[in-house]
Amino acid sequence: MKKGLIKAGFYSGFFKIWLRARRSGAFHILMYHHVADREEVFLPHVPARVFGRQMEYLKKEYRVRDLDELVEMIKRGEAIPARSVAITFDDEYDDVYRNAFPVLRRLDLPATVFITTGFVGTDRLPWTDELGFLFKETARTGLEIEIGGRKEQFNFRDEAARLGVFREVKNRLKALYESERAELFEQVKEQLAVSSRNPVRILTGPQIREMVEAGISFGAHTVHHPILTRIPPRRAQEEIGESKVQLERILSREVKGFCYPNGEAGDFNDVIKSMVQHAGYQYGCTTVEGVNGPAADRYALKRTWTSEPSLPLFAARLLKGSLC
Ligand SMILES: [Zn+2]
Repeated sequence: MKKGLIKAGFYSGFFKIWLRARRSGAFHILMYHHVADREEVFLPHVPARVFGRQMEYLKKEYRVRDLDELVEMIKRGEAIPARSVAITFDDEYDDVYRNAFPVLRRLDLPATVFITTGFVGTDRLPWTDELGFLFKETARTGLEIEIGGRKEQFNFRDEAARLGVFREVKNRLKALYESERAELFEQVKEQLAVSSRNPVRILTGPQIREMVEAGISFGAHTVHHPILTRIPPRRAQEEIGESKVQLERILSREVKGFCYPNGEAGDFNDVIKSMVQHAGYQYGCTTVEGVNGPAADRYALKRTWTSEPSLPLFAARLLKGSLC
């Protein structure tokens, strides 16, 4: 019933009227990860064809702005123009270059990609991607690991069960201090015994520079992608500061934006935010859901993540947030 009403609102043009009645307001920052060639349940992704439809919709109905510019407006206390929206990508996958960049270039849309600088030019990936790949490929049907001093047994006989256990183990590992997490990850890797190599690739330096020349912005996402509240403060400071230095070396230009790994409420705090500010960044993006108005905290910008394949539901999601 609710979906039916949303579709009626979308196709009747009511959404458009509602949206155009706004004079100023809060803006969404859309957050993407993989823009995948095919459906892949073990990766956080939007299929390329869905991404293309969403971008065409934004081009038609919204003002897609570079995030640096919108942050500058917040900094100056200016009203945010109505229907503003920014596009971001986390974790620098090369499918962003292959599948998203051609769409952005064709439609002349700005976007920002947050880079884990230590992964550029290597075959390293965020451990969450590696974990997803291990669960996708493993022939094993169970796992026994010791978390918090307790032995735990996980069983998975089919893909649905493997997906459920993958999500549970991922969340359990995220909660751990980084050194403990890394040790446990190695145990999981050994038990799942996957010999094939993950086909996911990270953007290369030349791909990044080609995107910069075409107007895509880049921000820093640490050097090694640790959750910053799960490492000692001195290391957090190095991850924040060093990724800015490394990215500026790759881009030969100033880097203004930072993005907190994992980015949920417990993954950054006031101390981490002030480290980001003191390192010289103008803003920090979280993964906390919401919109950003003129009084938004620049170092805790909220974002919107959706893999919604239905365009009316995608449109409703944006409409709801920016009008509340
Ligand atoms: Zn990330």
